[in-house]
Order: sequence, then structure tokens, then C-alpha cells
Amino acid sequence: MKPRVRFAPSPTGPLHIGGVRTALYNYLFAKQNGGTMLLRIEDTDQTRFVPGAEEYIIEAFQWLGIKFDEGVGIGGEFGPYRQSERKAMYKQYADQLIANGYAYYAFDTPEALEQKRKDCEAEKKTFQYDLHTRGEMTNSLTLEASEVERRIAAGEPYVVRFMHQPDTEILVDDLIRGEVRINSNILDDKVLYKSDGMPTYHLANIVDDHLMQITHVIRGEEWLPSAPLHVMLYKAFGWEAPRFAHLPLLLKPDGNGKLSKRDGDRLGFPVFPLQWKDPKSGEISSGYRESGYLPEAVINMLALLGWNPGNDQEVMSLDELIQLFSLEKISKAGAKFDLEKAKWFNHHYLQAVDDAELAKNFQATLKQKNIDACMEKITRVVALVKERLYFTNDLWEQSSFFFERPSSYDEQAIKKRWKEGTPERLQAIAEILKGCVPFDKESAHNQVMDYIHQNELNMGQIMNSFRLTLVGAAKGPDLFEIVDILGVEEVIERINAGIIAIENHIKNQNN
Ligand code: GLU
Repeated sequence: MKPRVRFAPSPTGPLHIGGVRTALYNYLFAKQNGGTMLLRIEDTDQTRFVPGAEEYIIEAFQWLGIKFDEGVGIGGEFGPYRQSERKAMYKQYADQLIANGYAYYAFDTPEALEQKRKDCEAEKKTFQYDLHTRGEMTNSLTLEASEVERRIAAGEPYVVRFMHQPDTEILVDDLIRGEVRINSNILDDKVLYKSDGMPTYHLANIVDDHLMQITHVIRGEEWLPSAPLHVMLYKAFGWEAPRFAHLPLLLKPDGNGKLSKRDGDRLGFPVFPLQWKDPKSGEISSGYRESGYLPEAVINMLALLGWNPGNDQEVMSLDELIQLFSLEKISKAGAKFDLEKAKWFNHHYLQAVDDAELAKNFQATLKQKNIDACMEKITRVVALVKERLYFTNDLWEQSSFFFERPSSYDEQAIKKRWKEGTPERLQAIAEILKGCVPFDKESAHNQVMDYIHQNELNMGQIMNSFRLTLVGAAKGPDLFEIVDILGVEEVIERINAGIIAIENHIKNQNN
């Protein structure tokens, strides 16, 4: 049987990259096995609904190149795929559980529950609505049947709670964690349905997974504690449960705790695929896309957070991942987010991007800075500095001096590289370059080298100060590549301007 899997986010805000990884693993598993992956939006908790979140989720997967086969925005024969649109169908399932003795009505008001909690606290106990306490509460187990009917008919608010049986060992057979056994006595009677007509996550999730014929539930470890209830729900309905696979947590880089929504911007990396602006507070959280990451790099990096192919292969395209992925090789231990690794992947994939494509985007950045440069020059610059880039956004930082004359000169470099005699030597270099016809990288290089040899100088005496006048700092790619791209006139002007500015600077300092 071909697997059917689902990614089932709640539209409560931007999608955390942990969620993206969950979707990715579902996708890899489905594609490898010729199966189907669907996108279901779990929006039953209207109090947590955030406008724009659903659109964000869809856009994020479009950017990443993860395609759903069915679901919200696509359609399919198991729709609707938005739980709020399925609202009417859940009640019958809650009724069925009550009729068969697997669930009960509870009428406890929020105040009564709060009081009960306080009473327990006073006795240094924590309150849980379960098989030990349900007999003390206001529900269809403690009230007369006629009273229950009366309350419901009168429109009194109620919830439907699952009724765990005593002393039952519940087995969750997890594809990653193996057999997890839990005794029913410690579980609480979770709310499944509310009289406002909305199911809770637990009921809606199980009903939909069943109706949508889901074969494998692959989701984050935070849902493992809910899995025993889910197993019991399948039993109560008499349905065959899907296979479960609970994925390890994504941890902070130091391994101390779960990677939270707040961590990213605090530690200097995005936790969301795309930038997100909170509709209420207006607060902006950074995204991988806007930070200059390539989708291929994000996919590759995420795939390895909690899984590896069993050897040390690290670079894998989406197609290769589909070939190599296996649920069995997912680790049980949490996976530490590694910023350096993320950057390394991005650097790697960036090298494969066409120079012309990078140049086109960079031209737009330059235009914003009112810099008009021709594509030929931009493409040459891009080709030259590409190996130094971690992000496309680094392009300006790595190459600004090709488009703007230095406005200042690095203090350290002046101290170290600017000696007596430097101005005269650089003037001599400027003269030599003027006479260099045709002017190109080789001829400029040869002439400068001849000058160095003839005057019995060493390379350092010329090259470093020369670079300083062209770049403004002791950085950048091969000096003669820079010379070639700038052209002879610009080089000579920069040498002359640099000499004046640096000499003045030194004079002012000495006064
Ligand atoms: N709606 C749940 C979430 O937001 C889905 C959990 C599950 O996959 O069962 O994570």
C-alpha cells in the first residue's frame, strides 16, 4: 500500500523551522515510496488563529520547493482540508464515543476547575482531571441521566472528555522510539469536544487522519505525550491506527533546550523560513529567504538535523534525499542547530548559482544605492568574489570598492604598510601603469614586478600599500584582478587620491 502522510500545522503564527523539517521528512518518506502528502490546516482553536499564517505556510513551502499532492490550496478527494470547514462532521464522532462509554459530558465551570486546582495546591498536589478525580466533579458520571439531559437542553456549556479505563497498559509502537508503554492511570481525561461545536485538536486530528486514510503520522516529539490518547481513540472508534514516528527535537546550538521562536534573532540566525511581521505587534522576525539563504541549502541543512544517510555524505539535493532517506536512520536524540553548518551549506550551494543570475540581483541592489554599473562589470566582480560569499547579501560587503572609491583608509593597515618612500614608489607605479599598453591584468602585473626587481624591493613594500589605495583596507581578491576591473584611469586616480589622503592623515596625527 502506498503511504499517505500529512503535514498538519495550526495557523497560529509563522512556521518554525522545526515544522519545516517535519514537513520535509514527511515529503521525503512519501516521495520515496510513491505515496501522497497532504497539507491540512488545523484551525479548530479559533482563539489562537493568526491572520496571514496560512498564506505564510503555503508561501514558505513554495519557496522551499516542497510540493503537496493534496490539501489546502490544492484540493483533493478527501477535502475540505481546513478543519474549520469540517466543523459539522465532528459532533457525530463525539456522540459515538459517549454512546459507547468511551467519553462523558463534563459541566465544570472554569471557576469550579480553578477552585479545585487551588484546593489541590493547598494539599501540595497537582490537579488532573482523571480517573482518580472525575468522581468528584460535575459530569455525566456523577449526575443523574435526567439532570445531564436537562443541562444540555437548557444550553449549559459542556465539554466532552475522553474516559481512560483503569490499569490499562497502552502501547505506542513508534518507528523511531520503539515501543513506548504508558499506564492509563496517569493520563488525564482530555477534552475532545466543546459545546461551542468545535472539536479539540485530539478529536479532529484522529477523525481526520482516519477519514483522510493517513498511513503514517510523522510529527514532532512534542506530540509523543498525546500519542497514548490517540492510540486509545483509535481503539475506541474501532479504527486501525496509523504508524507513528515522533521526530527528535531541534535544540539550541549549545544543546540546552528546545530551539524556541525567540532564539533565532537573539542568537543571530532565523528560526523561520520567511520573514514574518506579527500582525498585532508589528514585530519582525527574520527569515531564511530574506537573510540570503538558498532553499537548497535550507533543505539540505534541515534534512541532516536528526537524520543522516549512514555515511558521512553531507551535500544532498532534494532528489538525492528522496533516494537516501529512511525513518529508521532518524536519531532519538535531539539535534543541535548549527549556524556554521547552515552557512557552510549556503556557501556551497551559492557556488553553483550562475554568475549572471547573481549579477542580475546584485544590479538591483546597486541601483538602490544609486550606483550605475554595466552588467559586464558586475558579472566579472561577482565571478571574482563569489568564493568568498556565504550569502548573496554579502556581495556588497565583499565588493563595494569596485563601485565606490575608498572614503577612508584602514588605520591598522596604514600603520603597518605605509612607510617612508611609499608615496614615491606608488607614484612611480602609477607612471608605469600609464604607459602600459594594452592595459590588462598580465601587462600590469609584469610591469609592476619588473619595477620591484629593478629597484631591489620586496613584494610587500609595494603590494600592500598599493592595495590600500585601491580598496581602502588590507582585504579583497587578487590585486591585479582588481586593477584590471577598475581600469587604468581609475587605478591612477585612486593611487593619487590615496597618497594625498593618507599623507594628510599621518600629518594631522603627528601634529
Ligand atoms: N496541529 C498540530 C501542530 O500544529 C499537528 C500535530 C500532528 O501532526 O499531529 O503541530
